[in-house]
Amino acid sequence: MKFTETINRSFKPTNYTEEDGLLFWREKFFLISCFTFVLAGSLAYIASMKASISAKLWQVAIIDTLTYLLVVMVFFFNKINLKFRIYTVLSLGYFLSVSLLIYLGPYGPGIIWLILIPFMAALFLGTKAAILSNSINLLTLVILGFLIGFHLTGLNLFLYNLKGWIAVCSNYLLISLAISLPVSILLQVLDKSLRNEKELKNSLKTQNQLLKKAKDIAENADKLKSISMANMAHEIRTPMNGILGFSILLFDNDLDKAQQRRYTKIIQQRAEYLLRLINNIIDLSKIESGQLQVEIEVVNINKLLNEIYEMFISQIESAEKNIQLIPDIQKDKKITILSDATKIQQVLINLIGNAIKFTESGAVKFGFKIQNNFIEFYVKDTGIGIQENDKSIIFERYGRIENQNQHISAEGTGLGLSISMGLAKLLNGDIWFESEANKGSTFYFSVPLREIEAINDDEGKNNNNMTTNWKEKTILIVEDDPISAELLGEVLTETDAIVEYATDGNTAIEICKNKKVDIVLMDIQLPGMNGQTALYEIKKLDKKIIVVAQTAFAMSGDKEKYILQGFDDYISKPIYPNILIDLLNKYIES
Ligand code: ADP
Repeated sequence: MKFTETINRSFKPTNYTEEDGLLFWREKFFLISCFTFVLAGSLAYIASMKASISAKLWQVAIIDTLTYLLVVMVFFFNKINLKFRIYTVLSLGYFLSVSLLIYLGPYGPGIIWLILIPFMAALFLGTKAAILSNSINLLTLVILGFLIGFHLTGLNLFLYNLKGWIAVCSNYLLISLAISLPVSILLQVLDKSLRNEKELKNSLKTQNQLLKKAKDIAENADKLKSISMANMAHEIRTPMNGILGFSILLFDNDLDKAQQRRYTKIIQQRAEYLLRLINNIIDLSKIESGQLQVEIEVVNINKLLNEIYEMFISQIESAEKNIQLIPDIQKDKKITILSDATKIQQVLINLIGNAIKFTESGAVKFGFKIQNNFIEFYVKDTGIGIQENDKSIIFERYGRIENQNQHISAEGTGLGLSISMGLAKLLNGDIWFESEANKGSTFYFSVPLREIEAINDDEGKNNNNMTTNWKEKTILIVEDDPISAELLGEVLTETDAIVEYATDGNTAIEICKNKKVDIVLMDIQLPGMNGQTALYEIKKLDKKIIVVAQTAFAMSGDKEKYILQGFDDYISKPIYPNILIDLLNKYIES
């Protein structure tokens, strides 16, 4: 066992690995050849020594011994550079063959050794070395021929006359070239295909790595998706449970007014939550498919922050949360920028909503500062904070910190921050945070500062005062869903206006033909003729009839789309009574 190990180790190339292709195999072949020389050469050496000594050919004996010893050295000294070892062996072979040729004549082994040298050169060094070796041999044979021709040698070569010498040499050359050149070319081709194979292997390896990466990503996404589906189902079921449960309870006649109000409020809150969830999913898919567009307008930052404050302060009060909401608004400095107010507001609502959600006591402070041509909003809380190793997941889609959220009854889908990140990028801004577990977090959100002169905004204009006389006015509700129609009718009863109903476009046109209609509240998706076509027909009858689109197609950009189509205004479902009244008031007044 030890012997085989030693042999294997001895034949194992030291300079190259299998990856190096032909270089590895050349070294291996070389070592095997040397080993054969050492082993089989010992027999040849002994026989040759015996013959040389008995024939008193001392020179041959010395040359044999020297050559043999040097080959042994080259085989065992594997620290010497491979090329040097090959050249040494080839030179020794050459020296031996020429010596044998001279001393033993053309019948001796000299000429056979001479064939071996170019073959070995081809095998170990390549085509160029094979040609060089053949050329050196040819030159040697020509010189020796010259010596024979001119009878300049007293050596055994005289046994040949020049003609015989030329015949032997031509045969030698033919055999030598026929062996060494094909071998070297074969090896060259082999080398090329080994290299190609190596390249192929490498590219397969990279492709494999890429595939593995893609597989991991897909598996993670799949995992995330199933987690999120389960999460989403939970998020939908929970409010639905509240809505269905409390609407059943509302049927109970024994309920007092306070209970009725409470149940209705719960139903309303749950429904609003569901709506937010649906909007979030739509927003995220729009961001991811690149469909969301920035709608540049004048944004009054103070006004925007005030509106958000009003919205959250009532929420905190009604939830009876022990949190102070502190708006850091620089009242004296009116900043007005060009950006998309809805999207800025959406991000800030997400951030402040989270801060309140994840803070049980203390304060939530929000505001902004101007930094390097950016307006940098911040939302700082004294809440539960985020652990170091959870920090990377919160901007991921459906990324929620499960254990953390269990401490605090926080509902959510894990979509808010990824939507906020998408919106921030869309606005050419950024979003980031600092957080310490159990101490609190500060989220930052920046948008480019495209500041414009402060303008007079219309603060206090929409104050929902119903001073206008609606009595003479006729409002036509075009709606195929009876519940939605009833809701609109209910809202409008307070106004004393005359309310007409149509469930499809044709009936609506007929009513407009036969009666004086002032305002049409037009649903878009109707059976038969759709809302848009009905709009064109009504406008053909009378351009002055105000047609307001009222629809559940409530994605950003929809309002502009309907106005472009010719609608006078737009209101999205769910319709809030005060918003509808405000909107209609605008047209009744004029
Ligand atoms: P959601 O709030 O609906 O779960 P978000 O994407 O808004 O989804 O937030 C993702 C997660 O980031 C939250 O579930 C919560 O674990 C963590 N997080 C966000 N804001 C805060 C905050 N202010 N304090 C502590 N944790 C937060």
